[in-house]
Amino acid sequence: TSFGFKEVREEEKSKLVGNVFSSVASNYDLMNDLMSIGLHRLWKDRLVTKLGPFPGMKHLDVAGGTGDIAFRVLESIRSVSRRAMQDGFAETEEQTQIYICDINPNMLNIGKKRAIERGFAEDRYLHWVEGDAEALSFEDESMDGYTIGFGIRNVTHIEKALAEAYRVLKRGGRFLCLELSHVEFPVFKQLYDYYSFSVIPAVGELVAGDRESYQYLVESIRRFPNQDAFGRMIVDAGFQKVEYENLVGGVVAIHSGLKL
Ligand code: SAM
Repeated sequence: TSFGFKEVREEEKSKLVGNVFSSVASNYDLMNDLMSIGLHRLWKDRLVTKLGPFPGMKHLDVAGGTGDIAFRVLESIRSVSRRAMQDGFAETEEQTQIYICDINPNMLNIGKKRAIERGFAEDRYLHWVEGDAEALSFEDESMDGYTIGFGIRNVTHIEKALAEAYRVLKRGGRFLCLELSHVEFPVFKQLYDYYSFSVIPAVGELVAGDRESYQYLVESIRRFPNQDAFGRMIVDAGFQKVEYENLVGGVVAIHSGLKL
């Protein structure tokens, strides 16, 4: 039956995603920089600027194993706190809680290691949680912000992940998603296709010794809904003021929505 077929495919997808990230984990930082020519750093900065972190906030970064986004949220809160202290405002930084949730313990371990390297080791604000975007362990209406960076594309049921994002956010909370998206400009699109179908798998083989995983990553970008279709899914999950911003002509898009 078509139902049986779908089930097998979903099982395979989960297994594939697991394998990909176990294999990718150890080369993760290097590959990110190589594949995006360092741009992922700017994209993550932009995501956090849009979030507007504040001292005392409860934030959840899903699929955030490496801590890249969480560290930026924390740094941003600290710079706000420093300014607030200079202005003589009460110190609310103490209540800040940033949760990093990822399905893959290898990725979380990279993140924890990096936290030590960056001097965040003893940080009481960072919490590393192994978990699935589709079934979060957090309480209803417990978060001020939710981010997911280069993660939702790998989730088996995107609608479930969006429903969970909506559930855990407080009223007024913001959902932000950074994801590789779709390029439409003709010549740029051809260049980008060449880059992703030829260059990325080759670099994956050369650097990580794993062409297949990077081939899978490229294909998963193609299969992901385009900017407008994904925006509609966010609306369907209940979010309001849904919008997106394209970066580098749509190579990457940041979608945002509010739970009102
Ligand atoms: N957010 C980080 C960044 O931008 O550098 C990591 C992105 S990495 C490309 C994708 C991450 O999604 C991996 O760490 C993987 O383990 C995680 N992931 C995949 N499926 C997931 C799921 N269902 N729930 C939570 N995390 C998931």
